[in-house]
Amino acid sequence: MNTPRPDVIGSYTVGGRMHFYGSRRTELDRAGVNMVRTLKSFGFSPGSVITNVSTTPEVIQFAPFEYAVQILGMYGTNADLSPYDAGRVESLSRQFNPVAMMGVGRETLDGLKMLGHDAARVFKGRTIWARPDAYEDVKAMPGLDARRCVLAGPVLLFDCASGNLHLDSREWAGSAEGDELRLTSRQVRAEPVVDLGTGVKARMSDVACRCGNHDAVVELL
Ligand SMILES: [Zn+2]
Repeated sequence: MNTPRPDVIGSYTVGGRMHFYGSRRTELDRAGVNMVRTLKSFGFSPGSVITNVSTTPEVIQFAPFEYAVQILGMYGTNADLSPYDAGRVESLSRQFNPVAMMGVGRETLDGLKMLGHDAARVFKGRTIWARPDAYEDVKAMPGLDARRCVLAGPVLLFDCASGNLHLDSREWAGSAEGDELRLTSRQVRAEPVVDLGTGVKARMSDVACRCGNHDAVVELL
């Protein structure tokens, strides 16, 4: 079978090594439609704004999230995951008062500090999906809803409102070997993967999540 040509080239990183990864637009759209199920568990109002903090090579993981935001009638604003763009994160927080920020990382926290901003104040009152290198610090800040987001190969995993990381089970079969999350694609993709080691320490859980999403739950270790 011929694999279709990718429309977008992004990347994923495992063990500090970046790999290019191509996707078709339809694959990103499918991922976005699935993310709606997780995102809507928060009950954000249509018209709300969500700020997306990511890098250009992370398009495969974050473009679907931006689409999910649009499907739910919300608006997205963007900043780079970089200490030098943390000023934009702070500025967007004042201009648009986002209900949530997706993808906050160590670079954001370092940049806010470097520019003299109090991160706890910038994030206050919002849902903040933080990457593993920033999560503990964000969780320790008062007056916000700290949530996890994790890049697992070409997939963005993020907490639902019940605190579980769902894996899109139509798109991916997840397994864990040696405590590492491994992914196999289930649909036709420009770049199918078989048993891809993601470098994410996790196991598959059989918990039935209260948010109502029946997709498999990934439990971080
Ligand atoms: Zn859930």
